[in-house]
Amino acid sequence: MRRSRTVYATVRAVALATASLVALSASAAAAEYVKDGRETLAGLLARYDTLATDHDWQTDAIYRYPAAGGADIRAWRTRSEGPALWVISGLHGEEPAGPNAIAQEIEAVAGLAISGVPVVLLPVSNPEAYRRNWRYPNTAERDWRQGGYSVGDSEYLLPDLETGTTPRAARPSGPETEAYTRYVLDLARRYPPLLVIDLHEDELSTEGGYVYSQGVRADGNPVVAEVTRLLRDSAIPIRGDGRTRFGEPIVDGVVSRDDRGGPIRDGSIDELLSAREVFVDGRRVPGPSAPTVIVVETPAYAGSKLELRVGAHAAVVRSLRELWELNRQVLEATPR
Ligand SMILES: [Zn+2]
Repeated sequence: MRRSRTVYATVRAVALATASLVALSASAAAAEYVKDGRETLAGLLARYDTLATDHDWQTDAIYRYPAAGGADIRAWRTRSEGPALWVISGLHGEEPAGPNAIAQEIEAVAGLAISGVPVVLLPVSNPEAYRRNWRYPNTAERDWRQGGYSVGDSEYLLPDLETGTTPRAARPSGPETEAYTRYVLDLARRYPPLLVIDLHEDELSTEGGYVYSQGVRADGNPVVAEVTRLLRDSAIPIRGDGRTRFGEPIVDGVVSRDDRGGPIRDGSIDELLSAREVFVDGRRVPGPSAPTVIVVETPAYAGSKLELRVGAHAAVVRSLRELWELNRQVLEATPR
């Protein structure tokens, strides 16, 4: 689940961000959360880093938490630039399936570069929360109304919902948020996103998973349908219809519209990568305009069945080459 809604929570979040730096220092030595069977953060990073050591990928440190022993938010990217596949995961620390699946299938990711696909990989976007099983980087509270913000909060870069003439928020929610979103926007110029896959879990889902379809090509996208098929084939129940708890209609496992029938504008990194226009330092400039942005939301089974959850995400990661190819065909058939 990736709703941010920080427009309403920003003031409180800034206050909490300051307090959380103290909390992070105090708990840096605390035991890491692994009791659901997840890999340690160090274990994940070692797997991802084989892309750099064995396959000559570049790695970037996006943000370093200042406390002693603080984690880095890192990215890995292919040396070849150009229209790219973006794979994002781990924005919420209590959703470990995506980061673990990418680690498990790292050779499939490496294979993409070998077949010439430019790739940007942000596999564990919220590392401090991952090792605490927190949702947000700044607080153990799960409820966003209690001041938690997401690393991918992009409202300060996105047009406001009424007129589109000013940024939706005055400032970034937190220091790592600013570093992460600015990195994404910068890199999107050199690696324009053609296909974005953002792996999440929904801990509140009891009826099954669903997939958000965003981007310029949000409606009726065959690539999104293929992702729902991969999840169903991995024994993940997918909701055929109904609405999400935000009132968004689900059509055959896919959510491509908000509760009022408009495009999904949730202030997330997915909306940022989809955006045709963004605000940078107060100026309106062209946005990344990704045609296909897919956000996977699978049930988290209250923290149990991790193997099943990782297996479903791993099926998507193993199929990235096919999804990339299908997306290319879809874009060729439908001019932007
Ligand atoms: Zn999430």
